Amino acid sequence: MRIGFNSLHFTMDIDSAGLLDSAAFILSPNCDERPQGEIIGLLVIHYISLPPGQFSGDDVIQFFTNRLDCDFHPAYKSLQGVKVSAHFFIRRDGAVIQFVPCEKRAWHAGISTWQGRERCNDFSIGIELEGNGTVPFTDAQYTALISLTECLCARYPIQHIAGHSDIAPGRKSDPGPCFDWKRYTSGLEVCRTQD
Ligand SMILES: [Zn+2]
Repeated sequence: MRIGFNSLHFTMDIDSAGLLDSAAFILSPNCDERPQGEIIGLLVIHYISLPPGQFSGDDVIQFFTNRLDCDFHPAYKSLQGVKVSAHFFIRRDGAVIQFVPCEKRAWHAGISTWQGRERCNDFSIGIELEGNGTVPFTDAQYTALISLTECLCARYPIQHIAGHSDIAPGRKSDPGPCFDWKRYTSGLEVCRTQD
């Protein structure tokens, strides 16, 4: 599956259903409704690549849409039957793919706690960067992530940005030491909060 991409320096917008206008949208079934009245207040940054360390294929898309052939790669054995998703996936070239409308709950955080609150999926938006934890993220990814973050912060009352490792310490290590938090947060105009 080939995903088109427009420009690195775009102005993004999100509609009332929580869909980003500049993203390719591929619906993941791995989502459900947020608790009634829930406020979206947290962004969670992750990384993923499938197979691990390979960046050009579509296996993350297949994984998030429950179509991954788990016999294809030894690393996929543990993914059999795993149903996860994220709202957004930012590829190495900065292309943004959306899998879940922001208004819905994506299944990205797992068992998690943020400032005393459990089940971070309830109140967060998950953004996956295509990466493997040892290779730096690309300029295009930072550009897209910053634009996406500003767009989300303008649309939702987001108070905090955290890494998956911050909300699931000991269990998760992403986005890892290769993610340059300073570069990211210093690039943000509208949303510069990180606890
Ligand atoms: Zn993660």
